Amino acid sequence: MKPFGVRKIELSGRFPIPKEVREEISIKSDDPVEFFTDDGCIGIMKYKERCCICEANNDVKPFKNNFICQNCKDEIIIMANRKKEAC
Ligand SMILES: [Zn+2]
Repeated sequence: MKPFGVRKIELSGRFPIPKEVREEISIKSDDPVEFFTDDGCIGIMKYKERCCICEANNDVKPFKNNFICQNCKDEIIIMANRKKEAC
C-alpha cells in the first residue's frame, strides 16, 4: 500500500477521496464502490458484480435475477449433463 496524504472525516462520516486515489482505481463521481476492513485498515474498490455462487468478481455475467461467473456456469453445465446421462 502507498500513502496518499491525510484527510479529516466530517461529522456526517464523509471524507474526500484524493484525486490521485480515484484516478488510480478508475472511479469517478456516482460510481459505486465497496468498502473493506482488514486489521484496522479500510479498503475501497470500484464495485463489480459478484458471482452468486463463489463470489468471484471477474468474468461475471447476468443470470436470471443474479450474476454468475463463467467457471460456475461451466460446472453447472457439466453437472446437468452428468445428471442427463445418469437418467
Ligand atoms: Zn462463481
